[in-house]
Amino acid sequence: MDFELPKKIKLCEVGPRDGIQNEKIYPSTQEKIELINKVSDAGFKVIEVGSFVSPKAVPQMADTDEVFKKINKKAGVEYRALVANLKGVERAAACGCKKVKLNVSASVAHNLANLNCTPSASVDRFASCVEKARESEIGISGSISMAFGSPWDKEISVDNVKNIVEAYLKVGVDEISLSDASGMAYPTQVYEMCCEMHKSYPEVTWWLHFHNTRGLGLANIIAGMQAGFDRFDSSFAGVGGCPFVPGAAGNVSTEDLLHMCLECGIETGIDIDKMLDVATKVVDIVGHKTDSYLLRAGKTSDLIRELPKGQIKNNTQK
Ligand code: ZN
Repeated sequence: MDFELPKKIKLCEVGPRDGIQNEKIYPSTQEKIELINKVSDAGFKVIEVGSFVSPKAVPQMADTDEVFKKINKKAGVEYRALVANLKGVERAAACGCKKVKLNVSASVAHNLANLNCTPSASVDRFASCVEKARESEIGISGSISMAFGSPWDKEISVDNVKNIVEAYLKVGVDEISLSDASGMAYPTQVYEMCCEMHKSYPEVTWWLHFHNTRGLGLANIIAGMQAGFDRFDSSFAGVGGCPFVPGAAGNVSTEDLLHMCLECGIETGIDIDKMLDVATKVVDIVGHKTDSYLLRAGKTSDLIRELPKGQIKNNTQK
């Protein structure tokens, strides 16, 4: 049987938002602008720039409006931001952001405790955001976080996720991301979930968003690819975490994912060396080592070297 993978995939760099929002020491506005410009220069066609949420709750994202105004907006690149409500969409419209992403937790228990309603009922409330986005000619997508498990549920059933997808479709959102912020997803589960979603909702443009908390990020991406998904989020240097999960790792590191794609012959359109420079800069700014294998070990191709004559004999001895 052939091991089939897509020839080409699309990636979104979520480091400027999902990565940075979890860091105690984070880039200045100017540094964010420079990082984002470098990310688009490396070839990314989708970049999550920041979020329009309460600056008190997430001070790391307080300058998202200014960042949006000052980045070089390259033609053909989608610069998106996370929003939580109508106010977020209004802020997006005011600073020239053309794509926003809503989010709901797949955990019924979490949602009931936080918002006193089910996840689907939360999505129903997004109708006004969708309307405002349309009015302002802003694209809108939706994310389902903890779609593969949460600290409150262990596993989330496929039916539960389907209810949320249907609620999104009902309010007019047909680009949906399945997110594993808690790092609980595993490949066989991802494959099953993604096959079911693909089959049931062919009209949806799907994204997958994996954190590498338990080392399964890349394996989960491969499982998603095998189920026919071809859009994935990743984070420069693997920065990030999750406020609900102590010890959570960030998203799969962009450079690790690019390296895997390079080795497997999957086209991404992104320059891995340029992204390695970005990752190095990010580590410098946040001031600590991150969960990036490539930053530690480099590319496989950098390792290949000629042995000095005479050593080969020794190496073949048992
Ligand atoms: Zn995340």
